[in-house]
Amino acid sequence: MRLLSKRKTIHLRIALVFVLFSLLITFCSSLISWHYQKLAISSLLEGREQLEENHTLEAIEEITSSFENTLIAISTSNALDTLLTANRATTLPRLKLRQLFIALAKARPELLHLRYIDQLGIEQVRVNHSPQNRDFYVVLDEQLQDKSQRYYFQEARVLKEGEIWYSHLDLNYENGKLNQPLQPTIRVATPVYVNELFRGIIILNVDAKPLIAALEYSSVFTVTLIDAQGELLSHPDPNKSWSAYFPERGGLTEVYPELISELNPAKMAAKHSYRMDLESSFNNRQGLWVLKQPKPQTLAELYQNSRYAVLTSTLIILLIALPLAWLVAIYPTNLQSRLSDALYALRASRKLLDKHIMSSTTDSNGVITEFSSAAAQAFEVERKTIIGKTHSAIRHPDTSTKVHRELWDSILSGKPWQGELKNQTNSGKTLWIETVITPRKNDQGKICGFTQISHDITLRKAMEALSSTDSLTETHNRRKLDQLLEQQAQRYQRANEDFAIIIIDIDHFKQINDVYGHQAGDKVLVDVANSLKETSRQIDEVGRWGGEEFLVICPLTTLTGALKLAEKLRATIEAQLFLPDKQITASFGVAQYHGDEATNHLVHRADLALYDAKSQGRNRVIATPNELSEQVHSKT
Ligand code: GH3
Ligand code: MG
Ligand code: MG
Repeated sequence: MRLLSKRKTIHLRIALVFVLFSLLITFCSSLISWHYQKLAISSLLEGREQLEENHTLEAIEEITSSFENTLIAISTSNALDTLLTANRATTLPRLKLRQLFIALAKARPELLHLRYIDQLGIEQVRVNHSPQNRDFYVVLDEQLQDKSQRYYFQEARVLKEGEIWYSHLDLNYENGKLNQPLQPTIRVATPVYVNELFRGIIILNVDAKPLIAALEYSSVFTVTLIDAQGELLSHPDPNKSWSAYFPERGGLTEVYPELISELNPAKMAAKHSYRMDLESSFNNRQGLWVLKQPKPQTLAELYQNSRYAVLTSTLIILLIALPLAWLVAIYPTNLQSRLSDALYALRASRKLLDKHIMSSTTDSNGVITEFSSAAAQAFEVERKTIIGKTHSAIRHPDTSTKVHRELWDSILSGKPWQGELKNQTNSGKTLWIETVITPRKNDQGKICGFTQISHDITLRKAMEALSSTDSLTETHNRRKLDQLLEQQAQRYQRANEDFAIIIIDIDHFKQINDVYGHQAGDKVLVDVANSLKETSRQIDEVGRWGGEEFLVICPLTTLTGALKLAEKLRATIEAQLFLPDKQITASFGVAQYHGDEATNHLVHRADLALYDAKSQGRNRVIATPNELSEQVHSKT
């Protein structure tokens, strides 16, 4: 139950991390999405502006070409030609031109005045047209005026044949007063030549409202028409139009103060404002341009839609991310709980090991870095006092330096050492351990310390001391051999019974341990012991003298007999296959008891012979020289 709730907490925690992470991603993605939505709005408006600009240009083209066509129609008309070639006094040609003007005015309601002004600047034919009351009338001859000083005549008269002249876009004055309602007007003129001789101009006053309407037409933008002086000609709010005529209305600077500093295209585009110059499509030297700004409602709608889009995508991401985060968290949760279970088990077993197994670790210098509780208890020391010392602190003074040298030789060469060690507890008690010392290596393969695992064999050692059988080979142990030697010595004294001994040491036994392992070594010891027992006579006593050394006591035997037996034993061992691919041999030292010596002296003499056998090349039998000069050699 507790475990389940712990699991839940872990899941909750990991899921929370994932959820927070997904929220962060959602937040970032909505920011990015919003950014792109804004870009999309910009490019939408820009595209729209481009499209509308093209339409506007087409509309201007259409309107101006209709003016120009009208002018060309008049200037190339038969009526004008007749008038120019006719006698001045005749009125008929004038009448014809008037009729043409009337016909055009009827067909084209935007034509306000149609005039022919002669080369001297005198109006010759004039038709006025009032679009309000759809009325047109011919101006009487006596009302025709001298326009020679007016700017339009001055400017148009210098044009070449076929050229078209446009006036500024302005409001029409009638009798020195502004027309009410305001009448935006534009004058379009072309010179008339006969035989390359200037004969006057045709000039049309045109209602500019359709032109302004074409410029203003936009479903997305509000449009303001502005001239080079910054005067507003048209504005979405009619009360701000024609600022040149109504100074109180204010021009560009007053109406768009925020734009004045930002008229460069990049800044304008950033505010979705655009400038379209008309000079190239409609050049009337007024520097006209159009300012386009998105209609507030359009902009609000676009942003609203974008907000919905971002909100929807955010919601979708959230709806996917949150359950996903919850699900995805399951895997690490499982992993985490498996890991913590494993850690728990590991800790428990470590605790168990620490409590029950004697173990220690040292650094490469043999300084203790860890010491298990079991070891501390066995050695009657406190862990903190033993850590930092070396194992010599617990070494028994009896332990031979040979064993230690052997041990260090082995572990320093990187091989584990296994064996029995006599130690001493803190209170001075003997503690026998059977131990394995394994070198630890770092990543570079260098020895960085040692690990020792041991178990207490003090009791076994004591038992062995009491018993007469060697526990491994089940032959006589050293204690029993000592007793038997004493018995034989007494028999010699009593009944003069000869006896001899053979001491046997397996050759290069250390190698067997090193190559095949300690257990294989043990097995070889058992097999050799069995072989010795089987090959020797019934009355011979076979025992383990220590390590890989055996002793055979041969009652009622002289040196010669013992040598024969030794040779037989040697040959048997040599012939036998103890290990699959390793021949095992042994060296033999033989001595006969001569009565004037202690038994350990007899063993000592046999040992010397064995030593000779070893130094002469092993796998051979040697007798003690002071008793027999002849030596029995092996076949090797
Ligand atoms: P030599 O031919 O000179 O006798 O060489 P050696 O290697 O046999 O002699 P050494 O005395 O140097 O080594 C004896 C080895 O026998 C060392 C020790 O680890 C091993 N040994 C001693 N007692 C036992 C035992 O009970 N079991 C096993 N497996 N090995 C043992
Ligand atoms: Mg030996
Ligand atoms: Mg040996």
